Amino acid sequence: MGRQYFMVFMVLLFAVELTGSVSAVDTNCEVGIRVNYEYADDNGNINPDTQELTDGNGIKVNFTTTFDPAANMTKIKFNYENITENTVFTVKIRAPGYRELSHTFKLASYGTGYAAHLSLQMNATDAYKRGREITKKADQLLNFTKTGEVLVITTAGSAYYKNQTTEDVLEGILNQGRGIISYGKGNLLMLRKTRLDPLDFAFIVRKGNDLILTYFKNASMTPLYVGTVSQNMTLTQYQTLQKKLGDDTFPIASLANAWAIGLSPDILREAAFHGHVCMGTICGYAMIETLLKYYPATNEFGLPLEGVSYQVIGVPGGSDDDVFIYAMDATPGKRAYVGFNTTEDTNIVGFIRWNSKTKTGTLIIMAYNLQELIKKYKQETCETAVSELKFNAWAVKKLKTNPESLVDILYAFDNLTEEQVHYLMGYEPNKGNTTVAAAGLDLNYILNQTNLINATPSSRTYSTGTLTYDDLRNIGRLAAEKAIELFRAIGITLERDDYQLFVLTSAGYVRLNGQDTSPVWDGIYDVLGSRLSRKTLLPVHAPLWGNLKFDFCLVNGTQKIIKSIYYNVTSGTFTVQNSASYIIEEVLPYDPPFDVLMGWLFHNHVCGGSSPGYLIADYIFNNYPKGENEKYIYVTTLDNCKDDILFMLLGVSAGQGTYANQRLTSEETTLETTGGGMNGMVGYIIVWDEKTNTGRVAIITWQSPRFVPGSNSYEEYIRLYKHDCSSPNLVSLPTVSTAAERLINREELGILLAGGTGSMNALQYIFSIPANRTLADLVQVDNGGSHDGNQGGVPGGVPGGSTGGVPSGSSHGATGGHAGYSPGEDISATPASVSAASEVSEESSVEGKRVYEVKNATSPGSDSGSSAWYVYGIVGVLAAAGLVAFGFLKGGAGK
Ligand SMILES: [Zn+2]
Ligand SMILES: [Zn+2]
Repeated sequence: MGRQYFMVFMVLLFAVELTGSVSAVDTNCEVGIRVNYEYADDNGNINPDTQELTDGNGIKVNFTTTFDPAANMTKIKFNYENITENTVFTVKIRAPGYRELSHTFKLASYGTGYAAHLSLQMNATDAYKRGREITKKADQLLNFTKTGEVLVITTAGSAYYKNQTTEDVLEGILNQGRGIISYGKGNLLMLRKTRLDPLDFAFIVRKGNDLILTYFKNASMTPLYVGTVSQNMTLTQYQTLQKKLGDDTFPIASLANAWAIGLSPDILREAAFHGHVCMGTICGYAMIETLLKYYPATNEFGLPLEGVSYQVIGVPGGSDDDVFIYAMDATPGKRAYVGFNTTEDTNIVGFIRWNSKTKTGTLIIMAYNLQELIKKYKQETCETAVSELKFNAWAVKKLKTNPESLVDILYAFDNLTEEQVHYLMGYEPNKGNTTVAAAGLDLNYILNQTNLINATPSSRTYSTGTLTYDDLRNIGRLAAEKAIELFRAIGITLERDDYQLFVLTSAGYVRLNGQDTSPVWDGIYDVLGSRLSRKTLLPVHAPLWGNLKFDFCLVNGTQKIIKSIYYNVTSGTFTVQNSASYIIEEVLPYDPPFDVLMGWLFHNHVCGGSSPGYLIADYIFNNYPKGENEKYIYVTTLDNCKDDILFMLLGVSAGQGTYANQRLTSEETTLETTGGGMNGMVGYIIVWDEKTNTGRVAIITWQSPRFVPGSNSYEEYIRLYKHDCSSPNLVSLPTVSTAAERLINREELGILLAGGTGSMNALQYIFSIPANRTLADLVQVDNGGSHDGNQGGVPGGVPGGSTGGVPSGSSHGATGGHAGYSPGEDISATPASVSAASEVSEESSVEGKRVYEVKNATSPGSDSGSSAWYVYGIVGVLAAAGLVAFGFLKGGAGK
């Protein structure tokens, strides 16, 4: 880790549109620019980007620049015809975290040429300042520059500050943390929220066995809380914390404690994406490891449309679902995740592995059994009560040593046909035309298919690598140096901190021999200055078993030069590829907003289908803003690429039960006014009020814009994102609107999330709710009034009745999710009616099909008649303990 800024680069900006060729009267001109940054320690550390040089007529002048960090001086060289001392030039300069600067100047005759020396002051953006100042304040309180260790959790990246995206806040945190905080160290976590949420910061340091937190709410410079956040805190301490942090208590506490026990940074990022670390997070990873051991991805896979290795059929609400979406890159927009409440057990999941040669698939159904895990935990630790933070710590150890012990493979079937895949996942023979709706995890259906045979598991063994942080960081450096070499070979010298050089990589998502690869980011930053907060280092979503790949893309105007390499684990060398690995590059010339870029990175590519997502999200934020006690729940009905953008931006989560993908057919979602295909009733948004247990549901419709044939749709869309409708290529504007808007109660919410009633799908059900209701009516309905339609089985196998019913008056569970972030949430959140279990258990014919021991709802075990299954016991205990404080049950608090 030598000096970061050892290089003097010269950039040769390609000569394209210029003022003609060099003529005999051209004069050599040289301008030295010293940029003084508002934050003096940025001097010499940030290479300012000379965006453009124009003459007095506004005509662009070609130039080259050299940055000398020691002198903190940028030298610009160019030629100009017929220059005099009165010729005027304007230079535009930018630097990450700073406001763009435009400066007009003249040159003086100097020997055979002309020259000028400029000293320019650059002012930081408000967002950058806020990031730096709060980090500085936290350092004063926690003194982490001394110990060199800190964890930062922030909503920056998704929350807005002063109505703008917050990448500069992140940049400020990183620059103030000078080397101690970095993406590659995994100690800057972006807690996923929405742009409407407050900008919050948590800084955590270790102090002996304790963990100390400093928490800043809503960008305030005064910390709201300074004190312990350790798993060992007392009940009183916990309550004090909760009084201050409210709903953010468990997210912050669980992430902090998981970091402290060394949970892998990629899992921490998944948890920040999900909202917190919980048993679902840990068991989700355990399921993936078990899957890869017995039913590994092979080269023969390939699912149609979006090329994913596995399709996932989830049941939202069990937290594990977000792990599959994140770590397997099984995103709903890629049609790789489908899930709605088809069973009452949210901790169950199906994986489909497809062999495109034999046209058959394997269906693996797994679950984790919370009650069993709690039993094991108590046995092994001799604890009599369960604190979720300690329970997490126990499970993390299991994940490292014996992940299989956390999960059960309930069924594994081979011989799955195309038709069966279509039934479960939905079918879209060609893009934009869904002909079969997804049934989701319909266990009745699955267990009645007579062609399915027990799958033969392989038993792969994987050894975990021993690369250190420095080793991995060095891979990043070597990759960047390889890029420099490849560009040099075509006459281009790469410059550090170049705004126009983008590094797209799977680092941070893929693992090398089981190891997280995020340190690679730091290595790339060392050499090229590329960073996510600068929009120049772009981690592209990939499954954790994917290859470590890099695209280096230099943009000039609308042109792109891409050099692509991948890392060979066994030889430790890079292989150059002829074609690019990614197609995110297509949007880079048009400077997309940071948040849509995050959405595209999540989707793993850009495409026409994903483009509407940002505009639909805009519409929802503007027309259905959520208040303080409210949260968003979004359900996809017309599934395509845009759903990944919506998922990311709306802050919804399948794991928390605030997102479901109930894929309907194009026909079912067509509206006369919008037409079919990708237009129509794309989904519905619910603004749910936790306090009153009521919500507002609105069916969202979309109608695509039309552009002049031949225009670049990315460019046109990005203009629309920026509220610029002036493009001459815009033939007609897109239309986002609401097809129906209704007030709903908890019971109705449950019906919607289960996919509707037997006779009506969710959209039809929404239309059937009276439009003229008032909140007062709602309360009546809630108090025992029976709204029709709550009888009858739901097609997906959900038994009739009480789909939304939650026992014991628990405040969570409306969505089967993590509504309250309480320690009991995973437990109490499970919609407790067990009728699904008993229904499935009637399948006696499936007995012989089980390949592994089954201890779960789907097992026709002896207690299948008792409605208890495992959920009630826990809920009961938690309720008894008066679960005000998460993580503490009776007796669990005292230490
Ligand atoms: Zn969770
Ligand atoms: Zn796509």
